[in-house]
Amino acid sequence: SSEGLIEGHVGRGTLVKRSNLQLEDDYFEQSLPSWLLGLSANEDALLGPDARVLSELSSMEERQEIISLAQGTPPPDMLPAELIQSILADNLTTARQSALGYCPVDGLLSLRRSIAARMRQRGVQVDVQNILVLSGSTQGLGLIGRFLLSPGDEVVVEVPTYLGAIQMFRALGARIIGIPTDNEGMRVDLLETVLARRQPRFIYTLPTFQNPTGVVMSLERRRRLLQLAKRHQIPIIEDDAYGEIYFNDKAPQPLKALDTYGNVLYLSTYSKMLAPGLRVAWLAAPVPMIERLGLYKQTFDLNTNAIGQWIISELIRRELLDAHLQLARQCYQRKLTLMLEAIETYWPTGGRVYPPTGGIHLWYRLPGDMRARNLLREAAHERVVFVIGELFHVDGGGHHYLRLSFASPEEKHITEGIRRIGIAMRRLMAR
Ligand code: PMP
Repeated sequence: SSEGLIEGHVGRGTLVKRSNLQLEDDYFEQSLPSWLLGLSANEDALLGPDARVLSELSSMEERQEIISLAQGTPPPDMLPAELIQSILADNLTTARQSALGYCPVDGLLSLRRSIAARMRQRGVQVDVQNILVLSGSTQGLGLIGRFLLSPGDEVVVEVPTYLGAIQMFRALGARIIGIPTDNEGMRVDLLETVLARRQPRFIYTLPTFQNPTGVVMSLERRRRLLQLAKRHQIPIIEDDAYGEIYFNDKAPQPLKALDTYGNVLYLSTYSKMLAPGLRVAWLAAPVPMIERLGLYKQTFDLNTNAIGQWIISELIRRELLDAHLQLARQCYQRKLTLMLEAIETYWPTGGRVYPPTGGIHLWYRLPGDMRARNLLREAAHERVVFVIGELFHVDGGGHHYLRLSFASPEEKHITEGIRRIGIAMRRLMAR
């Protein structure tokens, strides 16, 4: 900064000044290589203006004084540290090779077997050869995207939808068609009119506890979606990150359970069920797709980290995963109730909550014409953050919506965070 090469932007981080892109004559006087100077410009063109939002939010949250209702992760006390510790203490020395060696690109066989068995329990007819273990479902979105898309191709997503998927498909050069959703999920009738004219490469959907809305797609829509995709020969990517985090007695079935045709590429992850730091997720798909994507994956990372896979495989073998999930469901449901009560107590009337029956996010429509972006600015003064609805919208909408994560904050921070947002709302309304 003493050389004037960089400048700080509140909310955007530190950037290289464009006026300094000129090269110095003397190589040694230049403080950064020229390709590095151009990076931030490239990145903006490729990823779009929201690319930094997620990383900025997490770095904000590292500063303790800010209450974050933005982060979609398990809370620290639900991260299974003790379980993992005991597994490592008991078995790691005898399982060196499986846990600490390279493993097959498809994943540890024991884990793939367990995943397939658990999916069959949820009504999905798959076998071990239908399972490809991934380094996070983000890798799955990237691999499928790279495999199926060329720059300029169209893809269908829900409006609103998961921000990470929007960013991934944009980064791969896709043109994104947004299909509105309602309380039954994707408006399949509107998709039908789109498919009559256009040929997207795939349809990306979150049928169960959608991120950000929490909505579960109705059975009828699921059937129609499958029929439509089959008629037009378009694959569906089902992203089921939250399917195992349900608050009613009955576990929801994935869309893939209805897919007798083999058109659904199913993604799920242990990031929300156990810990995102494990970086273990999986794809369930027809064998030819698993084989091709396996070869593809091998090029990028050889295999998913073996120790994470081994830990999860041991957790399942010792029947500890379901017990952990049961605790997580109870914990998140309790926190959701707390958040709803706090909203009732502290927020002005006129808004609308969309209480979910699973997952970790609460969707909210602000009163009248109040904009989430303006509210976030006010809320930041109160040291509380959330995610603004427009980030999940590919159609330029969502200005009056926000997403609150109820799983990750401590209980006392949920009430206090909601109270602070209430103060910010009233201040905005008084203007
Ligand atoms: N899909 C959805 C719907 C998500 O909410 C997330 C995480 N926020 C992911 C995928 C990414 O998960 P992973 O950690 O497995 O990459």
